[in-house]
Amino acid sequence: MQTTQTQPNPQPQLQPQPQPTTPDLKSLTLPELSAYLTTLGEKPYRAKQIYEWLHKKQITDYAQMTNLSKQLRTSLAVHTRLTVLTPVEIQTSKLDGTKKYLFALPDGNMIESVLMRYKHGNSVCISSQAGCRMACRFCASTIGGLVRSLEPSEMLEQIYRIGQDIGERISNVVVMGMGEPLDNLDNLIRFIELLTDANGLGISQRSITVSTCGLVPGMRELAAHKLGITLALSLHAPTQEKRRMLMPVADTYALPEVMQACDDYFAQTGRRITFEYSLIRGVNDTPEDAGQLCALLAGRNCHVNLIPINPVKERDYRQPDETITFDFKNKLEKNKINVTIRRELGRDIDGACGQLRKKYGMEHGSGPAGTGCGRKEA
Ligand code: SAH
Repeated sequence: MQTTQTQPNPQPQLQPQPQPTTPDLKSLTLPELSAYLTTLGEKPYRAKQIYEWLHKKQITDYAQMTNLSKQLRTSLAVHTRLTVLTPVEIQTSKLDGTKKYLFALPDGNMIESVLMRYKHGNSVCISSQAGCRMACRFCASTIGGLVRSLEPSEMLEQIYRIGQDIGERISNVVVMGMGEPLDNLDNLIRFIELLTDANGLGISQRSITVSTCGLVPGMRELAAHKLGITLALSLHAPTQEKRRMLMPVADTYALPEVMQACDDYFAQTGRRITFEYSLIRGVNDTPEDAGQLCALLAGRNCHVNLIPINPVKERDYRQPDETITFDFKNKLEKNKINVTIRRELGRDIDGACGQLRKKYGMEHGSGPAGTGCGRKEA
C-alpha cells in the first residue's frame, strides 16, 4: 500500500574533507567569529553580517554572502569550513504532515531528523550523534554502535534545512533523535547557545527539550549551566533491577543516583523533569510496575510521558493493548502524577525514527538507527 510520498535525492558525492583544524564557521559564537576575523585581518564588525548569513538566512554557499567583498568570501572559503547537510530522502506522512528526513553529513555519514506539526507550531526532533553507544535494548539507534558525535553546526543544520524546506518557522526543538546528547555535552551546550542567540534563529530555551538515558556526570554539568530548557530522563522501568535489564547504562549509574541527579537538577534550575517511560508488553506495563512507579515518583514535581514502544525488527518487544496503557495512566493519575500518553505521528511512514537510515545503511554500510521520535502527547 502506497501511503507515503518519498522524494529521493541523488546520493551526494563524498568530498575530501579539509583539515580538522580548519574552523567550522557555523559552530562559532558571534564573539568567537569576531575574534577569528581579526586574525584574517578583517574588521570585527563583519562578524555580525556573516553570522546573520549563517544563522538567520541560513545560506549554503559562501557566494551567497553578497554584502561581503569577493576577497573576504574567498578568504573564508580557503580558511574555514561551511557545514551544510544534504537531504538524501524525505518521507511525508499523508495522515498528519509529519516529515522524516535522511541527511548526509559532510563526511557522508547519515542521520535522521523528524518534523512534527502541531496546532501551536512546528517541532523538530534532531539527532545528536551518528549511531549511539548506550545499547538500550529496545532502541535501534544503538545496534550499529556509535559512529561519531555531531558538531554544533550539524545539529543546527538539521533545523535550518527543515525550516528552509517547509518555508515556515520552527518553534520547538527536541534532542530525542539518534544518539545520547550528554555523551556529546560540550557540542550540545554550544548548539543551544547558537540556537537561542537572537542574532540567529532565537529559539527560546523553554522551547528546547534534551533527553538523556541518565548519564549522571553530564546531568550535573548541564544543571550547572542553569538553562531554561526541559530535561527528559529516559526511565522506562521503576526499579534498578528491571531498568538494568533494558538499559545497560544503569549498571554504571544506578537508579537512586540518577533520581538524586534529577532532584538536584530541579533544585538548581527550577525546571521540572520529564520522565519518559516506553511501555513494553509484559515487560514494564503491569499494575505492579505502575504501583512501583507511583512510589518512585511520589512527592516529586515532574511529568511522565508514556510511550507505547515503537517495535524494532531486531527486538522482540511489543506494544501493550490500549486498555493496559490507559490503566497504567489512570493509576499514575490517581496518585496525582502528571501524565500523558504520546500518540504516534507519521504512522504511515516507517515506525521508529531510524528506519530510513537503516534502509540506506544496508546499501551503503552505515549502521541502523531508531528512537521514539515522531510521537506527540495525546
Ligand atoms: N539517548 C537519549 C535520547 C535519544 S532516544 C535518551 O536515551 O533519552 C529518545 C527517546 O526515545 C528515549 O526516551 C528512548 O529511550 C526512546 N526510545 C528509543 N527507542 C524506542 C522505541 N523503539 N520505542 C519507544 N521509545 C524509544
